[in-house]
Amino acid sequence: MAPHIHRRLRHDVVLRRLAVLRVEPLSPHMRRVTFGGPELRGFHSAAPDDHVKLFFPNRDGELVLPALGPNGAEFPAGREPSSMRDYTPRRHDAARGELVIDFVLHGDGPASNWAMQAAPGQRLGAGGPRGSHVIAGDFDRYVLMGDETALPAIGRWLEELPAGARATALVETPEAADRQALSSRGEVEIRWLARDGAEHGELLERALHELPAIAGDTFYWIAAESRRARAMRQWLDQRGVPKDWIKATGYWQAMEDEETD
Ligand SMILES: Cc1cc2nc3c(=O)[nH]c(=O)nc-3n(C[C@H](O)[C@H](O)[C@H](O)COP(=O)(O)OP(=O)(O)OC[C@H]3O[C@@H](n4cnc5c(N)ncnc54)[C@H](O)[C@@H]3O)c2cc1C
Repeated sequence: MAPHIHRRLRHDVVLRRLAVLRVEPLSPHMRRVTFGGPELRGFHSAAPDDHVKLFFPNRDGELVLPALGPNGAEFPAGREPSSMRDYTPRRHDAARGELVIDFVLHGDGPASNWAMQAAPGQRLGAGGPRGSHVIAGDFDRYVLMGDETALPAIGRWLEELPAGARATALVETPEAADRQALSSRGEVEIRWLARDGAEHGELLERALHELPAIAGDTFYWIAAESRRARAMRQWLDQRGVPKDWIKATGYWQAMEDEETD
């Protein structure tokens, strides 16, 4: 069995103030925001599932960012701190000085609400990425699967695949109109699974269970609501997939009283 060496990279944590350059609707539930500004200089993202911490204006409309000191991040006293949420650097163009982030419009929450009203000239804080998990490039196939919050990472992963690499993407979206055109140099099969008004259910799980086996080694990357991501990892574990061939991450958490299955 080939060892498939993954690499973990650490980066110095930098906190930046970024300016919104453009806002584009991508689909009914996804909005693309392109950021720029002088503080983007030096930004680096080495893996498609990297994340940055975005800081949103507080209820007074102010960005209140932490200071990075010897004891970690500390917010100034006496002011409501900015809410922070994790987002994927969907595309970074160092030459143009642009960073693209795709926001899911899921309903109420500081990040989703901000994305609904985002407009050129506004500012956000962005911290990181503080590290990158670079997955070995020598698997025979990559299965990349997740709900709409995973779509930025999956889209970037497919775009960055080298020619000849094989990938199957399973993407669950709120509705069929949330499909995106994704490009790749690899040999890629994309299956779109639209919930079409149903709650987060079993679409991804069923697609995973029914995935035809192929000869060779497969790496599984999964991102979805936390309980679902955990359950899919367990299912793969129980089928004897080596732990190192699975990365399953909860990208958001349904509240206790919210049904996800
Ligand atoms: C590593 C990483 C990368 C991520 N990358 C992206 C990305 O590129 N784009 C992106 O849109 N999201 C991404 N996410 C997910 C995003 O961080 C969460 O969805 C986040 O909770 C949104 O914050 P909020 O302020 O809008 O809602 P919150 O204040 O966190 O939550 C408010 C309510 O909304 C619910 N909720 C939160 N997210 C969702 C959702 N997606 N669908 C349905 N209900 C939800 C919560 O259960 C809660 O009830 C990523 C998460 C991680 C961990």
